[in-house]
Amino acid sequence: MEQIVSLCKRRGFVFPGSEIYGGMANSWDYGPYGTELKNNIAKSWWKTFVQERDDVVGLDSAIITNPKVWVASGHVANFNDPLVDCKGCKTRHRGDKLLEEKIGVDETAAIPFEEVGKKLNELQIVCPNCGKTDWTDARKFNLLFETQVGVLADPKNIAYLRGETAQGIFINFKNVVNTMRKKLPFGIAQVGKAFRNEITPGNFIFRTREFEQMEIEYFIKPPQKDEDWREPYDKWMNEIKAFFNDKLGLAEENMRWRRHDSNELSFYSKDTYDVEYNFPNLGWGELQGFAYRTDYDLNQHIKHSGADLNFVDDEGSKFVPHCIEPSFGLTRTLLAVLAEAYNEEEVGENDTRIVMKFKPALAPIKVAVFPLLKNKPALVEKAQEIYKNLKPLFMCEFDDNGNVGKRYRRQDEIGTPFCVTVDFDTIEKDNSVTVRDRDSMEQVRVSIDELEGYLAQKLQ
Ligand code: ATP
Repeated sequence: MEQIVSLCKRRGFVFPGSEIYGGMANSWDYGPYGTELKNNIAKSWWKTFVQERDDVVGLDSAIITNPKVWVASGHVANFNDPLVDCKGCKTRHRGDKLLEEKIGVDETAAIPFEEVGKKLNELQIVCPNCGKTDWTDARKFNLLFETQVGVLADPKNIAYLRGETAQGIFINFKNVVNTMRKKLPFGIAQVGKAFRNEITPGNFIFRTREFEQMEIEYFIKPPQKDEDWREPYDKWMNEIKAFFNDKLGLAEENMRWRRHDSNELSFYSKDTYDVEYNFPNLGWGELQGFAYRTDYDLNQHIKHSGADLNFVDDEGSKFVPHCIEPSFGLTRTLLAVLAEAYNEEEVGENDTRIVMKFKPALAPIKVAVFPLLKNKPALVEKAQEIYKNLKPLFMCEFDDNGNVGKRYRRQDEIGTPFCVTVDFDTIEKDNSVTVRDRDSMEQVRVSIDELEGYLAQKLQ
């Protein structure tokens, strides 16, 4: 993980937040390549789950909502983590996370809130800060970020930054039904920022207070029997697996679906999984929550808003739909994509290269164009011409710094699938260029007239 963090800073993927002011703990800014990569993951997700489907539409709802939304969703009352203090050094920690490291997620999930502190002492779990074992009982800490709306500091003006994007979907359910003429089953998808006042953020961008999610609420008819929800639920599972493997390139052996047992399962959910990735050094960490949430959320909003959120089908039957929720973390997924792509390879004798083997669709830069030599105007001019022609089609970069070997290394580190070099043969002999493949490092000659088609086909 250290190598990934260092590469991210060195190569412009992720920078420490507010750096010139001495930083801001656990805040990160996405640099030029990180922004491209994050956008490409979100684009691939949107293409797969919205654009290519007939039954999902998109949404972009507000970050600051009426605070009643979060009362209805249960976040004001229940969005709590068990907070424990170390009596030795007075630092504050997430009791459940400390327990999880020692006894695993399943066993931790079975421990009631009021027993967390006692269990930490019993198991002799030490404070990560001072090494002592002397814990207080757990207290509740609400994760919602409060903010003040308007100029008057008045408790009446308190609102929350959204703790998840999902609630924006539920509160727009009626608007979408009324405007989009969708039949059940259908889903609403949203990508955007979410905020949680995490007690123990950390592990680079894995757990931050400001992060991005990609969520879908997929509405189905109230099931008459188990198969009625099982069938779409299993179908979603398969589609999500294919997305992680085929579109993001996350290896199957690095992923697992951890099912919630009855202790961990929310009272309204019939089935829930945490979809986890095996992060280097960190171990298994959740990338996505996947749940059948019954009609809980819409019913909560009906109860609290008084709005009629029933669906009327073609036969005139009126009912509250149930929902299946795939809830992806975008920034966490980005970390998994970085971890999966990172490779250190031996090349030749006593030489290594770092290469980010991103799927071409995710790579921040698709093609880099070089003149063989910087000081030969004819080469530079031709390379510039090619670069300008390719730029409207793909994210491209022009580089004439240092020797070609160094330029290859730099492009390998940002995961550019193809490098195109203009040399003397290009202008004197064959009107062709050398195209070098990132993964095999093989070089082929391609005629300039065929270059666009060649790259388009390879980058598909
Ligand atoms: P965790 O157990 O790690 O706190 P969660 O179960 O509370 O996560 P959900 O509420 O299911 O998470 O949110 C859906 C997804 O949003 C998670 O799977 C994760 O990818 C992402 N996510 C949640 N909290 C954070 C965070 N603080 N930083 C980055 N991503 C997050």
